[in-house]
Amino acid sequence: MGDQQRYRERSLWLDGALAQFSPRPPLEGEREVDVAIVGAGYTGLWTAYALTLRDPGLRIAVVEAETVGYGSSGRNGGFVSAGIAGEARVYDRAQGAAGIVRAERAMIEGIDWIGDAVARESIDCGWVKGGSYRIATSSPQLARVRAGLETKRARGYTDADVRFVTRAEIEAEVRVAGVLGGTYTPHCARVDPARLARGLASACERRGVVIHERSPATALVPGLVTCPGGSLGARVVVRATEAFTTRLPGERRSYLPLASHMIATEPLPAGTWNEIGWAGCAPIADQRYQFVYAQRTPDGRIALGGRGLTYRLGGAIRESDEVQPAIHGKLEQALRSLFPAAAEARVTHRWGCFFAAPRDWSMSVDYDRASGLARAGGYSGHGVVASSLAGRTLADLITGTESDLTGLPWVGHASRRWEPEPLRFVAAKTIAAVLASADPVEDRTGRPARRVAIVRRWLPGR
Ligand SMILES: Cc1cc2nc3c(=O)[nH]c(=O)nc-3n(C[C@H](O)[C@H](O)[C@H](O)COP(=O)(O)OP(=O)(O)OC[C@H]3O[C@@H](n4cnc5c(N)ncnc54)[C@H](O)[C@@H]3O)c2cc1C
Repeated sequence: MGDQQRYRERSLWLDGALAQFSPRPPLEGEREVDVAIVGAGYTGLWTAYALTLRDPGLRIAVVEAETVGYGSSGRNGGFVSAGIAGEARVYDRAQGAAGIVRAERAMIEGIDWIGDAVARESIDCGWVKGGSYRIATSSPQLARVRAGLETKRARGYTDADVRFVTRAEIEAEVRVAGVLGGTYTPHCARVDPARLARGLASACERRGVVIHERSPATALVPGLVTCPGGSLGARVVVRATEAFTTRLPGERRSYLPLASHMIATEPLPAGTWNEIGWAGCAPIADQRYQFVYAQRTPDGRIALGGRGLTYRLGGAIRESDEVQPAIHGKLEQALRSLFPAAAEARVTHRWGCFFAAPRDWSMSVDYDRASGLARAGGYSGHGVVASSLAGRTLADLITGTESDLTGLPWVGHASRRWEPEPLRFVAAKTIAAVLASADPVEDRTGRPARRVAIVRRWLPGR
């Protein structure tokens, strides 16, 4: 199979975005630049883009192992949402409650920053900022929705940021079966993620950034990035490799690479959309432990995802693990039960991708001026906005620009490493099994599943 076909099969979004494919040339020979970035997902690309805004004279090169958006940036749910990536209590330890609020406000503003960049660079990615709904389909889920709302109120958020919505209010936007109620926030946009990544790459190139595809970095040390065909000498080296970081020498225990999975239907006919509604395209997510989330795509499909948390002994990341019949089967069941109007719709795409879970589920942005090494990541599956903030923050740190971003609680944060195998494997399997079994218990009994307490210490807060 050629690379174009293999890349297209990675997600609905890459299938569409790569219908026309002209790969960028790999890195060949030795080159000198000011900043060398490894990884052309959102983190690497937003870093490059923000650097061009700060200092248009910088020589910037990006090396990408596969193609732009090959990682979760080209395969995600397309929620441009304000939920912080990681654990509020970890950021609380760093800077107290005020630090969390600063981080959350930065995330909220970060959505419009991306929206402005999309408009400025004319990126055709189906951007619609219509907010999002968090929905509950059982009483324990509803209790979690209310608890989440109370936490937000305690931090000073008003109805203008997030409010309780009744079943009738949700149904007025999108008819989802079995909904009991939920919350609505205006702070969310819907996007086609791969078109965002690829449009952003083109915007970077228009600003002078050079991107090399099919150029895996085999070594990444101060001052030098080495690929099979050549090398980049650079004052600053940025690691933006998210889950794939665990493949780099000495980094295996930095993250747990966990897979999340999605499906998409064929484009639905107008009659089905009349039944479902969803004219405002506000994405929805439920409150299951292995939560289900969905968006109405720009081309009129339903794309729906959920956490399967696939993990291999040793943390291997393999394309052959991305399609999991059992998990994709459950997602299809969720699609049919939440959207009965789409009961007959054909599922045309099934995919998955690995995201990086740090030991404390909390993201980091770091720049060591002495060595010139920079890194950002560990978004635990919530990185669309966080990666843009991270890229902008790295640009400020690298150019020595004091800003509000450089004081956010994840700057300089270091998560401890995961336990060695086989403990890591046992932890990942236990988390996945307990969460998978908790949801049916709640659906059946209508009472909170106590078994989640077994894995609470390994879980992010919700
Ligand atoms: C199924 C799924 C759904 C998701 N849904 C959402 C969502 O709706 N909203 C949200 O906020 N977040 C979501 N996320 C998370 C979000 O997509 C990620 O946090 C974000 O895309 C991370 O961007 P990144 O650039 O850091 O990593 P990636 O997109 O993974 O990019 C890393 C890049 O580095 C390249 N690379 C790796 N190693 C090397 C090397 N040695 N040399 C050169 N290149 C290398 C890879 O090929 C890849 O292109 C989801 C994730 C998944 C898996």
